[in-house]
Amino acid sequence: MRLSHPLIIGAGPAGCAAAIALGRGGTRCTLIDRDEEVGDPLCGGFLSWRTAEQLEALDVNIDALGAHRISRLRLFAGTRSSEVALPRAAFGLSRLALDSEMRRMAIANGAQFSVDTIRGVDSGKAIGSQREWNAPAIFLASGKHDIRGQSRPRTAKDTTLGIRLRLPATPKRTSLIGDAIELHLIDGGYVGIVLQEGGSANICLAVRKSALARAGGSPDGLFAQLADQHPAMAERLGDDLRDARTDTIGAVPYGWICSDTAPGLFRLGDQAAVIPSLAGEGISIALASAQAAARSHSANRSSQDYQAEFATRVRRPVRLASTLWHTAETHLGARAAIALSRMAPGLIATLAQGARIPPVA
Ligand SMILES: Cc1cc2nc3c(=O)[nH]c(=O)nc-3n(C[C@H](O)[C@H](O)[C@H](O)COP(=O)(O)OP(=O)(O)OC[C@H]3O[C@@H](n4cnc5c(N)ncnc54)[C@H](O)[C@@H]3O)c2cc1C
Repeated sequence: MRLSHPLIIGAGPAGCAAAIALGRGGTRCTLIDRDEEVGDPLCGGFLSWRTAEQLEALDVNIDALGAHRISRLRLFAGTRSSEVALPRAAFGLSRLALDSEMRRMAIANGAQFSVDTIRGVDSGKAIGSQREWNAPAIFLASGKHDIRGQSRPRTAKDTTLGIRLRLPATPKRTSLIGDAIELHLIDGGYVGIVLQEGGSANICLAVRKSALARAGGSPDGLFAQLADQHPAMAERLGDDLRDARTDTIGAVPYGWICSDTAPGLFRLGDQAAVIPSLAGEGISIALASAQAAARSHSANRSSQDYQAEFATRVRRPVRLASTLWHTAETHLGARAAIALSRMAPGLIATLAQGARIPPVA
């Protein structure tokens, strides 16, 4: 199919935000996703204050979606813990709620939605399983999933996996977790816990493959090991663990930044940069890249200029988040983080602020 307007591949936060921005600027677009129905993608479900700010600018009303307010960061390492106030309010919201609303708004702003699974992308052409798409501009927003011809390099020997489980609302979990984002630092990774709309708990791990192997290779084995070794985790997981479904994704290329692209190809979201998820800033990067790419396209600026500028904008937060992630995943680093947050809580708040993508000047 030959289009005279932009094609957006992927209807996650990045693709939908681009469709909304293009639509509001009077540019038609076609938005495709491999899934007809919005799923509940694996994610920590933490919306930073910068993410919330950008969603507000897009008129996405997260209060109406039931977002749970978060005002503190609670850190755990073994039996030690500490708590610091976040610099500004953040929120817990499921991706099912967020992505459903964003897809609805993209379509309401004029995006033509189609279902297709793209297999390859090359100079103005996307090859789908249903048809071939030709477009003057392609916005690549396939997120965690690489597409032939545009794959991101996997350089780490011991790759990082994402594992998520959702536990139902209980009075005990509500009182334990409350208005905090909890980061339980473990050898080779971390577990992030937040409450979301309706009070359910989103429990999301980023963990090295080797750490999973040490726990017997299965997510269930890893959760059982964590509950055995960390009393605070055992309390939060409770008996519901037995019936919970786990989702996993493999080989997350943390730290990768795209600084070059082909003419007419705008890479957005996780296809533009992958900030370690410990920072909780991935959705913010998705929204900021969509906004910047839509602006560049409307101003007839080249995709290469957009990509180089966006790479410069994200470099500092991605590097800082990478340093924090590498420190926190070691036994000594995790203990040092707890000690530091007790001695200098202001410094932790400054680091949390530094891992946000800066707004456009
Ligand atoms: C373990 C973990 C925890 C995280 N926790 C957080 C957090 O708490 N807060 C936060 O801000 N960020 C978090 N992130 C990062 C966040 O999930 C991503 O940065 C964000 O989802 C990127 O949005 P996106 O729109 O680029 O991609 P995605 O959300 O991955 O969306 C991509 C879309 O493209 C579609 N698609 C994929 N392939 C194809 C194809 N071939 N053809 C057609 N359609 C396709 C998919 O169906 C999907 O709808 C986390 C990441 C990980 C790994």
